[in-house]
Amino acid sequence: MSEHQENSIYVAGEWRTAASGATREVIDPADATILAVVAEGGARDADAAIAAAHRAFGEGRGPWPSTPVAERAALLRRVADLLQRDREELGLLESLDAGKTLEEGRVDVDCVTDAFRYFADLVVNETGRVVDAGSPDVHSVVVHEPVGVCALITPWNYPLLQASWKIAPALAAGNTVVVKPSEITPLTTIALMRLLDEAGLPAGAANLVTGPGDPVGARMAEHPDVDLVSFTGGLASGTKVMRAAADSVKKVALELGGKNPNVVFADACTTAEGFDTAVDQALNAAFIHSGQVCSAGSRLIVEESLRERFVAELARRADRIRIGRGTDPGVECGPLVSAAQLARTEDFVASALAEGAVLRAGGGRPAEPHLQDGWFYRPTVLDRCHRGMRIVREEVFGPVLTVETFRTEDEAVALANDTEYGLAGGVWSADAGRARRVAARLRHGTVWINDFHPYLPQAEWGGFGKSGIGRELGPAGLAEYRESKHVYQNLAPRPVRWFKG
Ligand code: NAD
Repeated sequence: MSEHQENSIYVAGEWRTAASGATREVIDPADATILAVVAEGGARDADAAIAAAHRAFGEGRGPWPSTPVAERAALLRRVADLLQRDREELGLLESLDAGKTLEEGRVDVDCVTDAFRYFADLVVNETGRVVDAGSPDVHSVVVHEPVGVCALITPWNYPLLQASWKIAPALAAGNTVVVKPSEITPLTTIALMRLLDEAGLPAGAANLVTGPGDPVGARMAEHPDVDLVSFTGGLASGTKVMRAAADSVKKVALELGGKNPNVVFADACTTAEGFDTAVDQALNAAFIHSGQVCSAGSRLIVEESLRERFVAELARRADRIRIGRGTDPGVECGPLVSAAQLARTEDFVASALAEGAVLRAGGGRPAEPHLQDGWFYRPTVLDRCHRGMRIVREEVFGPVLTVETFRTEDEAVALANDTEYGLAGGVWSADAGRARRVAARLRHGTVWINDFHPYLPQAEWGGFGKSGIGRELGPAGLAEYRESKHVYQNLAPRPVRWFKG
C-alpha cells in the first residue's frame, strides 16, 4: 500500500499541499516500505492554520463557539458513529502506521469513540452555576466559555487516541483547533479530520498541519494568536513547548512520559491463579505495543522472596511472545515505530548490561528472516537492576522490563516513588489494606490495584512530577479547554459613597 496524500494539510475547510510543496514519506515499521506520502508542512502552513482558527473563533462569536452546546454535542456523537462505521479501516491504518496489532488498532478506535461520546454527554451537563452572593439584590453566575484557539500536538504511539483526547473536549467546549500529529504516524489523524468534515463541522473550526515538531509544532507553541497549547510527547519537547509558550502567556497542558513501577507483593502470588495473573499482567504492563506506551509498567518491583520464581516465569513467557507485522494473524507484538526507536532500545539494553544488569529474556533483534527489514526487538527482561542505572531512571519506550526487589512495604513505596516522573503505577497484593495503603502513598497520576493499564474516559489521566501539567479525560479534561467567567449583576444599583466628595 502506498497512498498519495500530498494535500494532507486542512485549513479553513480546504485540503492543501504544503506552501513549500515539500512532502514526507510515511514508513511502514514492519518492513520499511513507503505507506503513504503526505505534505511536509512548515511555519507558513502553521500560520495559515492558526489564522483560519482565529477567524473561525471570532472572539467567541464565530460559527462554532456560537453553536448551541446541544448541537455541538450532537456533532461529536455523529463523529463517534462515523468512527464506528470506519472501525475496520481506521484500526488497520493505525496498525500499519504505528506498528501495533490489528486488534489493538480496533480497540483504539473503540476507546476514541467512547471519548467523543463521553465529552458530548459531559459538556451538556457541566454547565455554569449560580453563586450565592449573600444579597437578594445580586444575581451572580459563573459561566464557562471556550479558551479560544487551541494548538494540539500529539505523539506517534497512540496517534488517533491522543488526538481525540484533545480534539473531543476542545471542540465540545467551543474552541477552534489546529492539530499537529506526529510526522511519523499522521495517517489516522488525517482520516479523523475527514470525519469531522463529514460530520458537518464548520470550516476553520478544526485545522490540521502535518509536518515536523520544529518548525510546525514550535510555531504553534509560540504564536501569539494561539490561546492554549496541549502537548503530548516526550519530556525534552515538552519543556521546549512550555518555554515557547511563555512569552504569550498561553495556557499550557503537558502529557509527558513515565517510568512506571509495577509493585508485586509475594502475597499476591500464594495461589497458582494469583501467580499466573500477576505474571500475565506484568507482561501486559511492559510489552503491549512493544513497550511504546507512556504508562508502560517498565519497572517491575517485586518482593525479594518471590523474585526468582516470578522472573523465571516472566522470562519464559516473554520469550514465547509472537513478534511480527501487526496485521498478521497470531502476532502479539509489532515492531518499534522507527529505526531511531530501535537504536535507542539497543543502546539502553547495552548500557544496562554494561552497568551489571542480568539478561533473562530477549536482548536483541529476532532472527527470523522475514523480520529483518522491520524494526523489531525481542521482549527483554533485565534482572538485578537498581536505581543507579540509566535504564531504571529514563524512559526507553521499547519492549524492555527491568527488575528491582524490595523487602518491606516502605522500601517498595520508596522505590516506586524514586523517579522524576509520576504518570502511573501498579500494586499487586492479596491484602486489600496493604494495597490501599501503598496506592495512597504512590506519587503517580493513576494507580492500578491488581490490574495494569485500564483507563476510563470518566477518570482523569495525567501525571505528577515531570509527567506533565494538567489532566486529560474526566471533568478536568474538559475544564482544560474552558475559561470561567464570573458575571455579577447588581439588581438594585446605588452609589457606594466610597469617595465622599
Ligand atoms: P516527541 O516529544 O518527540 O514528539 C511529540 C510531538 O511533539 C510530535 O508531534 C512532534 O513533532 C512534536 N514536537 C517535537 N518537537 C517539538 C517542539 N520543539 N515544539 C513543538 N512540538 C514539537 O514524542 P514522541 O517521540 O512522538 O512520543 C513519545 C513520547 O510521548 C514519550 O516520551 C511518551 O511517554 C510520551 N507520551 C505521553 C503520553 C501521556 O499521556 N502522558 C501519551 C503518549 C506518549
